[in-house]
This record gives sequence, structure tokens and C-alpha cells, in this order.
Amino acid sequence: MNVLPYGRQSISEQDIAAVVEVLRSDFLTQGPAIGRFESAVNDWCGSRHGVAISNGTAALHLAVKALGVGHGDWVWTSPITFTASANCARYCGARVDFVDVDPGTVNLCPDRLAAKLEIAEKNGTSPKVVIPVHFAGQSCAMDRIHALGQKYGFRIIEDAAHALGGTYLNERVGNCRWSDMVTHSFHPVKIITSGEGGMVTTNDDELASRVALLRTHGITRDPALMEGESHGPWYYQQVELGYNYRMTDIQAALGASQMTRLESFAARRREIASLYDAAVASLPLHALARDPKAVSGWHLYMIRLDLKTIRKTRREVFESLRAQGIGVNVHYIPVHLQPDYARLGFTAGMFPEAEQYYEECITLPMFPAMADEDVERVRRALQAAVD
Ligand SMILES: *Cc1c(COP(=O)(O)O)cnc(C)c1O
Repeated sequence: MNVLPYGRQSISEQDIAAVVEVLRSDFLTQGPAIGRFESAVNDWCGSRHGVAISNGTAALHLAVKALGVGHGDWVWTSPITFTASANCARYCGARVDFVDVDPGTVNLCPDRLAAKLEIAEKNGTSPKVVIPVHFAGQSCAMDRIHALGQKYGFRIIEDAAHALGGTYLNERVGNCRWSDMVTHSFHPVKIITSGEGGMVTTNDDELASRVALLRTHGITRDPALMEGESHGPWYYQQVELGYNYRMTDIQAALGASQMTRLESFAARRREIASLYDAAVASLPLHALARDPKAVSGWHLYMIRLDLKTIRKTRREVFESLRAQGIGVNVHYIPVHLQPDYARLGFTAGMFPEAEQYYEECITLPMFPAMADEDVERVRRALQAAVD
């Protein structure tokens, strides 16, 4: 039986030719493909700068680091995300806390954020940075989160790993209208891919150069950034402790080539989502709530089971779908329930909306090469699984 995966890259002959061209060129890394890919993403998003990074996790790490987060600082994010959205703060020695999700959209809830900020201000535990995650591709309520940032003085990094190709208030996600920086991921299951890869987009010149500096060991050849005199044309200085988080030109060439099809990828994902919407309407399931201000990038299509009416467990439904060749998944196990977070003091019951969502959710296959018949196959399998 052929298995329909939950996500899959779409590689064209043009993508392959672009990678081969780099392999025949002088630069496998630190060459011209990096700038081309950065411009492609940056131009799409409408931001001022794009800095390519080795992966989305490293992009989050550098974004948090560039904002000066360190020991004693608090960083808040959503419990329903990939663990990297929280880990990035811990890499910098900061403490992590979570804001429970909106039960409809499953995005970080602005009302709960407002309530938590009020308490934190009294306790002296206000966050330095908040990382809203655009879950499944739908933007968080960025206007409200931004307004709270103005009021309480925290900085904002949008984790847009799911959301390239989406919009918020008719503007493209990634343009940094509501945040200091936006991070992207180009892992093969994401919207476009570079194999492994990430990017930070920002409108802030200083943050862009800090991220670029930290990407390459904190080493600069720019005399303007150096302490004291240059020794000569060979000279470089390490002006702070950075990392090797560079992307290769091989990856960047693939990413730049993929960017030429982002529009068509996004359109096809929206079509598949509407087909799923129609299917879900006839079954004892719910889709995530839509924010009328957002158009999702549709990285993922989630369903929530109506566990009271179907008299089946999520596990039974999941296993039935897998047995029928539907490569379903679960996104995500709440981060605070991971053993490595339990050790920090997080326990079950702390973020009830996130935990409730986790009990009911299944991720359906979603990728641009899916045919309409594949969606119909998922619908029939779902029908059988919940019957
Ligand atoms: C994939 C993902 C990341 C990490 O990206 P990588 O490129 O895999 O390191 C971060 N946040 C979210 C929400 C993701 O889905």
C-alpha cells in the first residue's frame, strides 16, 4: 500500500540544475548564492534584511541572542510548538515560560498573555522577549501582541517556520511590521526547502548585522567594527563569541530556486485546505478556528476529534488512519510536558488549553503535490476511522 506522507518536499528539474550549477562553481559556501537566497526571501516578505542561517533553530538562537537575552532574563512562547521555539532561550541561559493557547486558533492567546504580563510585572518576572509561533501557518494576533509589547516593553520574535506564504492584515508574514525579527525554517516538510536552512528577516539594520556577525563566530573583517587598529589586509577580529551557523551555497541555491515557486506552493496549499474544510464539515471533527485577519501559509492541516461523540480514542483513530496508509502525525506534544521541561518545574495542568488540544489533535497530510484524489482518500479513511 502506498503511504501518503504528512508532508513532502517538491523538487523540480530547475531546483536540481540550480544545485548542480553551484557544485560546478568556485563557492560551495560563503559565495554568491547566499545573497541571492537572502534577497529572494527578503523581497518576498517585504522586510529590509534577510540573513540566511544553517537551520531554523539556529535562526531562533541568533535572534534571541541578538536581542541581548542572557542569564536572568525571561522568554515566553507557546506550549504548542516545536521545542526549538523554547530551547533557543535556554541556549542563551534565559528562563522559559509559556502562555497558554487560544482554544480556537491554538495560537498564543493575547488575552492570556495580557493577564500573565500584569502578574509578571508585579512579581518582577516580566519577559524580555515573547516568541509568538504562527501555528500551522496562521499568524498569531500580532496587532494585539505588538500593542502589549509597547505597553510592557518586551521585544518580539515571530517564529514563522510554518507561515511563509501567509498574510496578516493583508501584509506578508515575515515583513516584521509587528516584531523585531521573524525567523523562518526551510526543513523539507516546511513551505519551501533548502534541505536544512533558516533565515532571520528584520527591518532593523543593527539587528541584521548582529545576527550576521554571530552567524560567523563573531568574527569581522570590517575595520569599523574592530577595536583598535587593523594590522593589515589579512586582519580579522573576533569581537564577541559567535557560532558557525552558516548556510552552504548548495542549500541557498536550492532555496532560491524554490522561492520562484512559493506563490504556486501557497496557492495549492490553500486549495487543499478548502477541500479538507469541506470534508471536515461532514464528519464529527473540527478544524482550527480561522482568524479573519490572517491568511494561513498552511504548513499543516489539523483536525480535532470530537471525542465525546465518536466513542473512540485519538489513538484508535490515529492507528486506523495509519493502517489505511494515511501518514498522519501529531503536532505537537506540549513542550512543557517534555521530560527536559518537567525537570525545570513544569507539570501537567499548567496550560490546560494546550493539553486539551493535544488530546484531540491529528495532523493530516498536506503538501503541494497532493492530488484532489488524495484528499478524497484521506476523507474516506477518516470516515472509516471515526465510524
Ligand atoms: C521546524 C520548526 C523550527 C525549527 O526549524 P529547523 O529548521 O528544523 O531547525 C522552529 N519552530 C517551529 C515552529 C518549527 O516548526
